[in-house]
Amino acid sequence: MTDLIILNAHILTMVPDHPRAEAIAITGQRISAIGKTADIQALAQAQTKVIDANGRTVLPGFIDSHVHLFQGSAELDFLPVGGLMDLAEVRQKVLDYANARPEEPLILGVGAFYDLFVGQDTSPCRLLDSILPDQPFALLAADLHTVWANTSALRAAGLLHGADMPEGSTVVMGDDGLANGVLLETGAFGPVLALSRTGGRDMLGYVTGDDPDPAATAAEREADKALLLKGIDHVAAHGITTLHNMDGNFYQLELLSELEAEGQLNVRVQVPMHLKNYDPLERLQEAAEMHEQYNGDKVWSGRVKMFMDGVLESRTALKSRAYPDTPDTQGEAVFDPDHFNEACRIADAMGLQISVHAVGDLAVSRVLDGYEYARKHNGKRDARHRIEHIEVISEADIDRMKALNVVASMQPRHAAFAGFFEPPQPNTVLYDDECARSYAWRTLRDQGIPLAFSTDWPVVPVDVMTNIQCAVAPVDLGLNWPDQSQTLMETLDSYTAVNAWLAFREKHHGCLKTGLAADLVMLDGNIATHAPNDLSKLPIALTICDGAITYGGDEASGGIYW
Ligand SMILES: [Zn+2]
Repeated sequence: MTDLIILNAHILTMVPDHPRAEAIAITGQRISAIGKTADIQALAQAQTKVIDANGRTVLPGFIDSHVHLFQGSAELDFLPVGGLMDLAEVRQKVLDYANARPEEPLILGVGAFYDLFVGQDTSPCRLLDSILPDQPFALLAADLHTVWANTSALRAAGLLHGADMPEGSTVVMGDDGLANGVLLETGAFGPVLALSRTGGRDMLGYVTGDDPDPAATAAEREADKALLLKGIDHVAAHGITTLHNMDGNFYQLELLSELEAEGQLNVRVQVPMHLKNYDPLERLQEAAEMHEQYNGDKVWSGRVKMFMDGVLESRTALKSRAYPDTPDTQGEAVFDPDHFNEACRIADAMGLQISVHAVGDLAVSRVLDGYEYARKHNGKRDARHRIEHIEVISEADIDRMKALNVVASMQPRHAAFAGFFEPPQPNTVLYDDECARSYAWRTLRDQGIPLAFSTDWPVVPVDVMTNIQCAVAPVDLGLNWPDQSQTLMETLDSYTAVNAWLAFREKHHGCLKTGLAADLVMLDGNIATHAPNDLSKLPIALTICDGAITYGGDEASGGIYW
């Protein structure tokens, strides 16, 4: 029995041999036929739901290959301050928000831009005290790598007088011997986020990779699941059917599996094991356990996540040269090289996939060293190891990425030329000669390096169409910045088929082919004829994951499709 058919569509299958179709049939959780409208129409039975797409585009469901689902979900309920460039604007928002929530344990603004604190001659701590002096208050940077906290939050978190930190994390101290409010990286800001109403459980897979201790109560578990459901609805509304999470612990795997058992999990999620630099390497055994226990169609593990460095904005990204405007630092390596190489060797020998955050060119080099070391010891295999972000890369490492079959996992909207974050001023974090090798999507793709696209939500909003626009129609920043733009089909490939392959799921989903999972998205227009610089405004009409409508359809569309 055919459950649903879509007719008269502009279907981009993302299958190289059969790139186009007009109609598609779904039976249960699978695509049961795809082809011409007349042939698919003939499959309709009395109970079949029929959608006339009327020329709208249908694509495989979008796969966002780098997100933080739990944090993204939690951020939907915290105070958004993204895009604000002036603390005066932040002040009024914060006061209104705090007034409305007298019981809130931590007033947390999220999505904050570094620009808020640039050029100020007062410490961030004092600036935040001047907004809210008497209750814990903090701002989380959009990139999730820095928190700015007021005195009350620093005191409550036990950081006011400084604290011992793992490599890569810093509680920045002021001349007065007290913390100045800048907390760099997870080790430093984890204790502040733990003050929030979620108890920091949403951040735990990112901060330590540990499970909640003490274990979450039944009420906390239910609250966390409700939070995740909100986030899942949010991503489904953006046409997403699969997520690759970039933080993880058993707790998240348990919550997602419970939602699946309850029939509520409207998206597929891959969850990694997060290995910290201070973890003994025996801890990798947890990744193997996760892989063994969670290997379903909707929730699965099998990957290790690590960090090699921080971010350019806070000068913690690891570069081969000192920062142009901060000559006393070239950033910080989170992992010592030998330790990292061993971690790669062991994880690779266990058959696990590895994904490592590396922003600076030296960080990228160190990660490649680790992958090379693993290959030397374990032999070549279909490992699909990945590097996250690659904001700067050297010429030599472009060749090494290719030789080692390493996947570039990049985020179109993070780029200097995406029009979201302010492009860096010349000679601040990047030398002029580095710009051509920064956010170098085109250069990497042209070398034949597999290129996966994602958002890193909540670093930038999870809406896929805006990211597609950033990739196909980036802003022109002038001579130092060569054109890295992507064609529409390249971009869509990097958001669908490539990402399915990247998670070893290419035989299950990622393109539209008979027998594969019924994961698809219908756009409210024809993407091929839509202006490239206006793609962000092309709405999502319908999302189907695992054969079930997860967004749009009857109610949302007012029944216009059937
Ligand atoms: Zn991330």
